[in-house]
Amino acid sequence: MSDRKSFVLDIRSSSGNQLIDITSEVSEKISDSGVKNGICHIYVPHTTAAVTINENADPDVAIDILAGLDDIVSDKLEYRHSEGNSPAHIKSSLLGIQEQVLIENGRMVLGTWQGIYFCEFDGPRSRKIHVKVIGG
Ligand code: ZN
Repeated sequence: MSDRKSFVLDIRSSSGNQLIDITSEVSEKISDSGVKNGICHIYVPHTTAAVTINENADPDVAIDILAGLDDIVSDKLEYRHSEGNSPAHIKSSLLGIQEQVLIENGRMVLGTWQGIYFCEFDGPRSRKIHVKVIGG
């Protein structure tokens, strides 16, 4: 039998495209859960946002990721979606809306340079991030 605890993080993005470091918020929920060994699932229930794990030591990496995505995903195509935010939908699917991190001895198993980023592609908006901590 395993323990499961669910949490929701409420965050507000401040610009159109933005990577927000949520490592400490997720870490806090793992502490709150009391789970010492298991897995943490991070899920973003949005179609123009994502979650990714990447370097959070040099803030320029996050800026370069956004610049690279802008280069990959054209904003000049004649998209059919009438809302006008197709590049945001495409970026969301490219990066994905969920991540999993192992938990050992009450802490996330992250590399020295790794952090968890919420990725906003159609901000500013209020967003939710679901965090499920599963022990066992
Ligand atoms: Zn749309």
